[in-house]
Amino acid sequence: MTIDLHCHSNHSDGELSPTELIALAQRNGATMISITDHDTVSAYENLTTTFDLRLIPGVEFSCLWRNTNVHIVGLGIDPTDKNLRVSCSIQSEHRMTRARVIAERLFSKRVVPSAEAALMAVSEIAGTRAIGRPDFADHLVQTGVCEDRASAFKSYLGAGKVGDVKEQWPDMKEVIKWIGDSGGVAVLAHPAKYKMTRSKLISMIREFREYGGESIEVCAGHQTDQVTKSIADLSKSFDLSASCGSDFHSLDRQWSQVGKVRTLPSNCRPVWEKWI
Ligand code: AMP
Ligand code: MN
Ligand code: MN
Ligand code: MN
Repeated sequence: MTIDLHCHSNHSDGELSPTELIALAQRNGATMISITDHDTVSAYENLTTTFDLRLIPGVEFSCLWRNTNVHIVGLGIDPTDKNLRVSCSIQSEHRMTRARVIAERLFSKRVVPSAEAALMAVSEIAGTRAIGRPDFADHLVQTGVCEDRASAFKSYLGAGKVGDVKEQWPDMKEVIKWIGDSGGVAVLAHPAKYKMTRSKLISMIREFREYGGESIEVCAGHQTDQVTKSIADLSKSFDLSASCGSDFHSLDRQWSQVGKVRTLPSNCRPVWEKWI
């Protein structure tokens, strides 16, 4: 049984359409997946194709915990829920405000020659999607400022850099509530990615649980067995169920392909038990 409860379509910063993504997951042997686009559930609109795997509606919300940009996945949410849709449109407005601030900050450091022109170019790249930092990265590559996306993040957009604007995001408590109110399970996404000390991570997990968080990604994308074991131990200590997801975005990242996820350590309680 291959389960992948975290991947992205082109409704956020993924490469494939929802239908292509589901087809690929199926070819890769997945029996259950969730498309968890950043701050939107539009991938679930007009999904008319029939497929041979279990699709669990999901989303990945951006939020803040003590000034750190943290991601919370919502699984088993109702994508048609009115309140959830309002939450997604709030997030989309935050992305617009943030894009303006990012453009201005890049201009203030003369990374781009004009904030307005950068914002226009990035809006064009994003098209109907809400703007994300990968769109800024693509703009910096297209204009020859950076060689590739990775170096754009490394120099200008990644954590602590000039274009790392996160103040707009709501508090972690709020997004956990949004998820719970629409019938979903809140999952702390890729805990190792925040590069926190263990004691800080433990404080975050404690608060996450207090606010109603129920699950944690024990297998998240590409990580060492040691990291997996340490998160599995945390899931047990805090009585959180365990999730797993590739965080697939595009075919060129060979280490993160949809439906290709490690199996959970045996001491974990899988989040998907209730959907089998
Ligand atoms: P945003 O949702 O606008 O905050 O952008 C965050 C997204 O940028 C993440 O979900 C990743 O897909 C992507 N990202 C973050 N760091 C990097 C990096 N170093 N290289 C390429 N993409 C990245
Ligand atoms: Mn992403
Ligand atoms: Mn994420
Ligand atoms: Mn993700």
